Amino acid sequence: MKLNLNIQPLESWFDNGGKPIIISGPCSAETEEQLLETARLVKETGKVNILRAGIWKPRTRPGEFEGIGVEGLVWLDKAKKETGLPTAVEVATAKHVEEALAAGVDILWIGARSTVNPFTVQDIADALQGVDVPVLVKNPINPDLSLWIGALERINRAGITKLAAIHRGFSSFEKSAYRNEPMWDLAIQLKTLAPELPIFNDPSHICGARELIPHIAQTAIDLDMQGLMIEAHRDPSVAWTDAKQQVTPAKLAEIIDNLTLRHSDS
Ligand code: PEP
Ligand code: MN
Repeated sequence: MKLNLNIQPLESWFDNGGKPIIISGPCSAETEEQLLETARLVKETGKVNILRAGIWKPRTRPGEFEGIGVEGLVWLDKAKKETGLPTAVEVATAKHVEEALAAGVDILWIGARSTVNPFTVQDIADALQGVDVPVLVKNPINPDLSLWIGALERINRAGITKLAAIHRGFSSFEKSAYRNEPMWDLAIQLKTLAPELPIFNDPSHICGARELIPHIAQTAIDLDMQGLMIEAHRDPSVAWTDAKQQVTPAKLAEIIDNLTLRHSDS
């Protein structure tokens, strides 16, 4: 099963001189102040290429913070204008796609809870018809390579050629130190089936605990993944979502500094 994706090389839509692309920012946009300050601090590290923030949060159970919604898109645009960083948000519905694009978001990603559902992915793909925007597709929650591939194909068939995958680990019944098992073999299989497809890694959602991030980030680089998405917050201890896995911008800079890049990256 070879994947026949019609995609543009990563350098043609995001040239980072061969170095891994770093996507960072808070798990969730919480307040305008929190987002702007985090964006400023992340930018000041000089190591971040793309600012992320969750605007619509897919929570496993109801009753928790489900994202600030469209108001956050206005803050994100302010953060972009202030820092000059392109922005990325998760979209889970066709309406999210329309709202994010209308608000000037530069890059969209599909979350693990959406990749798992072909109807959802197809709705998002339909909303992307005729749009020229980079889309990053996270692996599904469960360790099913076909679902991941199917989502990439649906988005690609909608005409999205600036396409990449994000490896964020998989749910497992095994007891583990990780929130989501990396199951590196699935990412390696995807790389083998579609060598032209860029794969980024999301150590934050694999680890679920900030102490574990450096090792997973290094492993991803050693496997030749082309980017890292790492959640950063101005004060992770009070984050409204994913508090245990977010890092301060200073810690983020240290993690990036301590990575040993592959020969061709340095
Ligand atoms: C996120 O990036 O904040 C997120 C919800 O990720 P995932 O879809 O990987 O769980
Ligand atoms: Mn998160």
